[in-house]
Amino acid sequence: MAGKTFPWVLTPVPWADGPQWTRGLHDGLPLLSYGCAPRDKLATFRQLRAMGLRPNGNDPVAVLYVRHNSSKKVSFASLYLIETAAPVRPMTPAKWTALAKANLARRICVDCGRDRLYVVPTSTRQCWTCLEAESAEAA
Ligand SMILES: [Zn+2]
Repeated sequence: MAGKTFPWVLTPVPWADGPQWTRGLHDGLPLLSYGCAPRDKLATFRQLRAMGLRPNGNDPVAVLYVRHNSSKKVSFASLYLIETAAPVRPMTPAKWTALAKANLARRICVDCGRDRLYVVPTSTRQCWTCLEAESAEAA
């Protein structure tokens, strides 16, 4: 394909006074290419996590795209403002309990109701024993 897919556009952005050069809009948010996002102001979710931060309920303010040359695919990543991010909330005993409960629910078969000690398939929620018994009946 000839020509530029994402032409340079001057856009007003929330992280700077006055318009900045971006690559247009993507889902209504300023689109940035690799290397043109200010690293001290914007970060992806994983970059925030690495800094011990969370987006704090704020929506992403920009989208970063990267082109993979070998596969010709384009990936997008949401960028959040670092200054509106909040510290990651520490795990409390109640949160550990809730997590354990949720993981237990994933291991329980809907047919026999037993903890199968493995995560049952989400498509049937049955353990392999019940699933095999059912398919043997149907055959
Ligand atoms: Zn079962």
